[in-house]
Amino acid sequence: MTIDIVSPGTYTYGSLVLGGVLRDKGHDVKITSKLQSQGDVVLLSLFSTMQLLDPKIREFVAAKENVYVGGPVGLCPEMVLGELDARAVVTGEGEEIVADLVEKGPEGLPGTAYRDDGMVVKSPCLPISSLDHPLPLIPDDLCQQNVRGANVYIETHRGCLGGCTFCQVPRLFGRSIRSRSIDNIVEEVRQMKRQGVSRVAVSGGTGSLFGYGKQINREAFVEMLRALSGILGKRNLSVPDMRVDLVDEAVLEAVRDYTIGWVFFGLESGSNAMLKAMKKGVTREDNLRAVELARRVGVKVGGSFIVGYPGESREDYMESMSFLEQAMLDDVFVSIAEPIPGTPLARLALDAPEEELALYQEHDGDYRALRLSEAEARCFEMMLQGEGCKPVPRAITNDLYNTYLGEAKGQGKDLKRVMQLLQKYREYI
Ligand code: SF4
Repeated sequence: MTIDIVSPGTYTYGSLVLGGVLRDKGHDVKITSKLQSQGDVVLLSLFSTMQLLDPKIREFVAAKENVYVGGPVGLCPEMVLGELDARAVVTGEGEEIVADLVEKGPEGLPGTAYRDDGMVVKSPCLPISSLDHPLPLIPDDLCQQNVRGANVYIETHRGCLGGCTFCQVPRLFGRSIRSRSIDNIVEEVRQMKRQGVSRVAVSGGTGSLFGYGKQINREAFVEMLRALSGILGKRNLSVPDMRVDLVDEAVLEAVRDYTIGWVFFGLESGSNAMLKAMKKGVTREDNLRAVELARRVGVKVGGSFIVGYPGESREDYMESMSFLEQAMLDDVFVSIAEPIPGTPLARLALDAPEEELALYQEHDGDYRALRLSEAEARCFEMMLQGEGCKPVPRAITNDLYNTYLGEAKGQGKDLKRVMQLLQKYREYI
């Protein structure tokens, strides 16, 4: 059987892994980031709700017979099957079922959903027994990919102890931690390097949870970073995503000694009320402490923030602005709260009256001439604030101003489209 794995725009790590599983089962598998296929079967890897609305993806699926969709969008299979003319959706972890899926179809297979007589038939997901997997299928052009500075993000473990309301990780992978063996990770990175991949990022929600048993396993985390750094060199390895309450001096020293020396904390807000609403499980004070600790150890700190979360008042927002002044982060990312299907935030946004969501409120403050929504204005202003509060502030040129303005408007426009989609499938969200 000829199988094409299509991962539009960006090769997702999951698509590489599934490619490896199918190749080792004896199938003729090709992988591409372009919307093209000659195969008998297509596995389509989608990571964002917006991709369901992409006309090119919709046309591509409509033109093929056997398209199976996988990725985080599988959290709401009714929406995927309602928008795309696909044969089935993988709703859970795909490694152990993908071979049966392409060979026999989805009927009776756990962790899948498909249409039957106009109804969506779903089978419960079974978590896979071991995360160690065959070598991924590595495309020749993976070395040219650039995802936030890395050719590829690899997965070292699944699950997160946190329960942040806006995040898919605990909903997709659960709140207990399952880790790969270091040998399995090392073998994969060695093969990637042989095939020209030079820069690798370790993902997994919170990097320091690798090897977690009943507590943080610093030894496993350090050993994993040391091994990968030995293959790639510290300038080519990053382990960006960390929870502030899951780092300590030893963890941060390993980040400093074996990687590019950056962490990105999901700080989200400077307001304790908002952090509580988001179920972050940490406070503004915890966030500041972690930033200061990282700086003391010699690790640069980026932070991500969410604006326009349901219930965020002007005062909450101003606390985030003051947090930026206090923390002086080396880099700042700002997003308007994204209601990802399957998360509590999606339900919250759907249940809130539109006029209470900053996404739909007209901004009437300093940027009113720009005709932004309140959420867009906060996003834009906070990006500018982030630049002005860096240890070495960056001049706000016209280009930078316009880039941030375009980014904020683009986020607002996309999220309104996502909200329309969620409203269409509100009973399944
Ligand atoms: S700590 Fe990070 S990965 Fe874990 S639930 Fe929160 S946002 Fe998600």
